[in-house]
Amino acid sequence: MSSFRTLDDLGDVTGKVALVRVDLNLPMDGGSVTDTTRVEAAKPTIMELVDAGAKVLLLAHFGRPKGARNSTMSVSMTLDAVEDVLGKEVMFIPEVQGPVVAQSIGILRNGDIGLLENTRFWPGEEANDAEFAAGIAANADFFVNDAFSAAHRAHATTEGLARILPAFAGRAMEKELTALEAALEKPEQPVAAVVGGAKVSSKLAVLENLVGKVQHLIIGGGMANTFLAARGVDVGKSLCEHDLTDTANAIMDAADHAGCTVHLPYDVVVSKEFSANPASLRVCNVHEVAEDEMILDVGPQAVEALGDVLKTCKTLVWNGPMGAFETEPFDDATVALAKTAAALTIGESLVSVAGGGDTVAALNHAGVAQDFSYISTAGGAFLEWMEGKELPGVTALKK
Ligand code: ADP
Ligand code: MG
Repeated sequence: MSSFRTLDDLGDVTGKVALVRVDLNLPMDGGSVTDTTRVEAAKPTIMELVDAGAKVLLLAHFGRPKGARNSTMSVSMTLDAVEDVLGKEVMFIPEVQGPVVAQSIGILRNGDIGLLENTRFWPGEEANDAEFAAGIAANADFFVNDAFSAAHRAHATTEGLARILPAFAGRAMEKELTALEAALEKPEQPVAAVVGGAKVSSKLAVLENLVGKVQHLIIGGGMANTFLAARGVDVGKSLCEHDLTDTANAIMDAADHAGCTVHLPYDVVVSKEFSANPASLRVCNVHEVAEDEMILDVGPQAVEALGDVLKTCKTLVWNGPMGAFETEPFDDATVALAKTAAALTIGESLVSVAGGGDTVAALNHAGVAQDFSYISTAGGAFLEWMEGKELPGVTALKK
């Protein structure tokens, strides 16, 4: 049994008014939506409520209007895309509370859908103003949160409403929370974490949290250079935060104390210039990087050894690519390790959870995203979860 209420706990909702917080912050090009993944993610929850005969009111933010109406950031810009994905007509309602919403609910039949205006048009949203939330809640019977990606914010429609109305996790939220619990809260051990990406500074809190939770911490990407430098390796012209070498040493000490093995690359792919397939490309031991070379990927021997580490593990969480994967051949380590993780997942010896904007892009590039146990597209909320922070939107759903 989960620690939060889900749609299974709803009972009869015929004719009841549901406020459903979704993520409709869709990528746009000019006036049109370029990607509907987030609508697809919310569809099971919306259609389940529709089929159960509820009147479904969708709540979402769109862009950063900073508490004022702004016609270029109206949620109505997503209306066509939402209707397309749901295969159903949706009524746009240009308010979130008050008589206009009440009248619209009167027009909606059971199983109909309304789309409320951008919650961030009102300052009460980001201020998590109790009166603002109460005004929205006044028209509804219950609240469903299906936007994990906004759960790290304590806003009126991500946290406040859950304090006023009976609150439930939607199906996408439920899937995400279940996957994340299986990966770090109650994982099968040993657990490996892969942390890569450009900079240590952007992921300090992640690293500090993980050393106490996982048995293997695999560090790749640009941030590995800072750890190598901390160990006295000359990393040449590589991206490296030299001012953070003390911090890197402290993290490695903490890992030692916690019984967590930190894995740094011992061979690397280097080049004098950062371009696709450069003439100066070579593979070398980390101690042989020349003054005018940059480390741009983890080397093949290290990748093989890391694959062997994953074979001994039952759980993997992954954030951050192992190299500058956007430029060939510096995608090799990321692709190879991703394929190993995917094969182990298919073979059911590994539960694999990954997240992060560039990480998801890298796993798609490797062609293995669908083979991972769970891929989070939540960005900031995923990182805060990896930092071990409580997410207010999730806490508010706890029983
Ligand atoms: P995510 O979005 O998944 O959290 P990050 O934004 O932290 O990941 O990091 C991704 C970026 O790190 C990519 O743009 C990649 O090119 C860069 N990167 C990885 N390894 C290196 C490296 N050795 N040198 C420079 N940049 C790197
Ligand atoms: Mg990124």
